[in-house]
Formats: sequence, C-alpha cells, structure tokens
Amino acid sequence: MTHIRLGVVLAAVVVAPGFSQDAIRSVLAEATKEVSSARIEATVRKLCDFGTRHPLSRTDSDTEGTGAARKWLKAAYEEIAKTSGGRLTVALQTAMVPCRRRSMPRQIEVVNVIATLRGTSDPDRIYVVGGHYDSRNGRGEDGVNLAPGAVDDASGTAVAMEACRVLSTREFAATIVFVAYDGEEQGLLGSKAHAQQMAADYAAVDGMITCDIVGNTLGMDGRRYRDFVRCFSYAPSGNDSFGRSLARAVSRGARQYVPDFRVKLIYRGDRYGRGGDHRSFFDQGYPAVRMTEPREDFSRQHQNVRPRDGKPYGDLPEFVDYAYSANVARVVVATLGELASAPPPPLVATARLARDAYDTEVFFKLPEGVDKYEFVWRETTEADWSHVVSMDQVTTKPSRGGRTMARLPDVCLDDVVVGVRTIAANGARSRVATPPEPDRFAQRPIGKTQPAAKKK
Ligand SMILES: [Zn+2]
Repeated sequence: MTHIRLGVVLAAVVVAPGFSQDAIRSVLAEATKEVSSARIEATVRKLCDFGTRHPLSRTDSDTEGTGAARKWLKAAYEEIAKTSGGRLTVALQTAMVPCRRRSMPRQIEVVNVIATLRGTSDPDRIYVVGGHYDSRNGRGEDGVNLAPGAVDDASGTAVAMEACRVLSTREFAATIVFVAYDGEEQGLLGSKAHAQQMAADYAAVDGMITCDIVGNTLGMDGRRYRDFVRCFSYAPSGNDSFGRSLARAVSRGARQYVPDFRVKLIYRGDRYGRGGDHRSFFDQGYPAVRMTEPREDFSRQHQNVRPRDGKPYGDLPEFVDYAYSANVARVVVATLGELASAPPPPLVATARLARDAYDTEVFFKLPEGVDKYEFVWRETTEADWSHVVSMDQVTTKPSRGGRTMARLPDVCLDDVVVGVRTIAANGARSRVATPPEPDRFAQRPIGKTQPAAKKK
C-alpha cells in the first residue's frame, strides 16, 4: 500500500484551504514591479563620482570623499522620506571605533546613514537591509586615491535605497530599517556599531539582510550569470538556525514575486576568507544573511583602477549589470515586505514524537492576537520547506504555559524538520520558527531578546 504523508507539496498548492486569496500578493507584486534599474544605476554612478569613499578620505568637501558621499546619501534618503507620510526618518549614527587593520589608525570614526520606516502596528519588531558605502582600492589604508567601489559595494547600497523608495510609500506592521554602512572593508566597523547598539537597546531584530557585491554578472570564465543570487547564512550548529530560516524566507520571496530569478541557498556563513556586515548581526544573536552575485570578478574588487595585460582593472560603474541588481532589490522588497506584513513568528518551545504513532507533537505559543498559522516540514537533507500543513489539518489542545500542542499525523519527527509560521489577515507569512534540535546549542530566542530583570 502506498503510504501518503500529510501535507501538500508546496509547489502544487499555494492557497491553503480556509484562507481567501492573499491580499499581500497583489501588494508585493505591484511593489516589486516598481523597482527601477535606472534609479539603481543613477545611485551607483553618483557614489562612484565621489572618487573614494574610504573612511580616511576627505570629509571637508561636497564633491569628493566619504564626507560628501554620506551627505549625499542622507539627502537622498530624506528625499524619499517626503513620500512616506512622515513614517520614514533619516539619521546618522557616528561612532569612534577601534580598528585592527594594519597601517590604519587604532581608532577611526565611522558614520552610518540609517533610514527607518516605522511600522504601523508592531513597530518594535525590526527588519534591516543594508549595503556598505565605504570603498577601497588595492591598498586597504589608502584614503586618497581612486576607489570607485561600484560593485563593492555601491551596488548593495543602491539596492537598499531602491528597496526603501518602493517600500516607504506603503504601510507595514513592523519597522524596516535601510542602512548605508561605513567601514565594512576595515573590519565590519559600521555594522558592528549598529548591531551592538541594537542589542544594547534590546531591539527585536527579526532579520537582517546585507547586499554586498550584487552587480557583476560576467564571470572570469567569460560566462554570464544573471539568473540567481547567492544567499549565505550562518548557523552555530545544524541547518536550522534563525539565519537559515531567514534565508528560506528570502528564497520564498524570489519564488513568489521575481519570476525567472532565484535565490541559491548556501549553508555557510560567507565565502572562504571573506566577511560581511551580516556577521555583525549574527554575532549579536540576530538572524542575518548575505546576498552576493553568483560569480565574482576579482579584477574588480579591491583593485586600483588601471589597465593590466590589456584588461581594465578596478571597480568601475560601467561593469555593473543594473538589471541584475534590480532583481536583487525585488527579492529584498518581496522578502521584507512580506515579513514586515506578517505577525511575529511563533515561539516554538519543543517538539516530540508521539508515543503511540509516528505523529509529531509541536508545542508552540502564538504571539498575542494571532490566530492563523500553518506548519511546514522537510526532510533533514532538504534545503528548503517542501510540505505545508494547514491548521485545519491538525488537532490541537491547550498545553502548559499558554502553549498549544498540535499533532501532525504521520510526520515522523526524528527524520524531518518541522516548523510553524504565523499568517496575517492579508496572508503574509512570518519567518518559520522551528523547535530546538535534539543536540541544540544556545541561540538567542527571538521575541525574548531582553534578559529577565534581575530580582532586587
Ligand atoms: Zn563589500
């Protein structure tokens, strides 16, 4: 007898029974259509015009150096803020931070440009998207000579700004923060200051995406790679960190709203020997991922602008594929638009295999006021969720501590990963929350980032 497991295969059925056609889908389909490659190109070219955006470059000019660059970025975000009905606010975060790079001063000043789109009903929950606006050439400490940094990382800075332009004319339950980071090339200095500040404020960051190197599509092998973006995510152990859960939400965003473009999930924090601003958030226990083009061209990154062996070197704006960067921006818009429209993820306390059948019992707590949710599962070796089980298909009963126990028939927990996500009235889905693995290591539980107050 063929054994049929509960759950519909995701690709086949999109609308779960009992739910109307999701309103969020038309909102985000419209929004992703508004993303403009021409505006991304204009931003990248403008940033390259400042010559260098090295943290040690000029700050006393309106046309050259990092000071002029951030002045322009702040003004551009302020221009966007005018269309937001007063919900988008722009600020500079300035910090003196230690720098460990050779030939650099021990302390340097970094300045992040931060635009905050305040959420309408759940503003304390925060999503962050950033790129780094600082640049470098062949000499990491050179604050004087040309360092256009078009792909690395004017492209990511422009993607974050374009996502802001599109999202800030719309309303979202949670807050979305768009950042141009400083000092990435000198040791993730700007993002470290930002993430540390957020952790110190007990900010509930439910996801951070850094777009870093998202503009080159011509590989060093002469082939074009335009149809996907790599998404790197850290995990302290196993495959089911909060970061991995965010990565799967990013992949879902692409599948739903960016046709002919996909997210390649890479279950590794970053490329070999490289780092990015998502690391600063991961280090604070926040879910964070990195988006990077499929095949990097190392004659562009961290190079002086010059010809070598008849080949142009240097990170110049004419080598950026702006239509490609626009697709990355669409994935960001789709992902953050959906997550910020959804309720917070549930708290999944634990799961166990039933004693009398190969059923999975999940113990979870819904956020206040949330009554719609669904289960997903996949084999442990599958990269992404492959099955969805609607709440109508399970039996539930109240459990201790305000939790709910749901029983998923014929899902053998020991062999699979199960998860729960909440659903808004408009159909938006939260990031999936999973129970701890049996061999778990400590992770910061989301929604409970504030340590319990010490008893006096
Ligand atoms: Zn970079």
